[in-house]
Amino acid sequence: MPSELTSKIHEIYYSISGEGISQGIPTVFVRFAGCSLRCGMVAGKKLWCDTPYALSPNAGEDMTTGEVLEKIQSLISGETQVLFTGGEPLEAEKKNFCHQLAGKLFESREKKNFRFARVETNGAELLDGLRYMVFSMDYKLPGSGMEERMKPENFSILKNRNNALDEIKFVVRSRSDFLRALEVIREFELNSNLIFSPVYEDCSLDELSVWLKEANVPGARLSSQMHKLIWGDRRGV
Ligand code: SF4
Repeated sequence: MPSELTSKIHEIYYSISGEGISQGIPTVFVRFAGCSLRCGMVAGKKLWCDTPYALSPNAGEDMTTGEVLEKIQSLISGETQVLFTGGEPLEAEKKNFCHQLAGKLFESREKKNFRFARVETNGAELLDGLRYMVFSMDYKLPGSGMEERMKPENFSILKNRNNALDEIKFVVRSRSDFLRALEVIREFELNSNLIFSPVYEDCSLDELSVWLKEANVPGARLSSQMHKLIWGDRRGV
């Protein structure tokens, strides 16, 4: 048994998943500290990150994988979705921590549902060598200023996994972002769980829904941020 790994954890709380194919599912959020991307800071625009308070690698307390598992179990007695998020949960040494934590979670659960942790990842980390997880992977479009950090190799990793619970998310700031997403989908022959979400205040759900209807891409779906509709910008709810 490898010794327990430690990572900086910003917060752990029980709420409702707000986005993508798991939208609406009661979920325990494990938020990791630290992300080296800075989404949205292009052409004089502001950072659009929803969690700026978790961007510093020091924005949390050291916890072992055992302590995080205990906290998850203390929040909800039955099984429910567990989401590793951030910050970026797979950056640097956090990747091994997530691997160990997802393994412990898998072993601790009996039923098939929710034995795998869901990981929200920014597309800049390779998804190779990771078990017991399903992925919500962003592909950052030009409007984020972060497209050059994307790892297109992840598309073949996701295809080879062929897991119906994996998803790829495109956050769209403008029509040109939307057209770039269509180009990426065509180039890498992506066809399932393609989540489209607008950048708040730059693109509306209405606009994006019109573009999606016109493009009619197999596997594409519109996603809002349900948690913001319910609670606004409050944290930890
Ligand atoms: S990748 Fe996610 S956590 Fe990092 S800056 Fe972008 S939106 Fe924020």
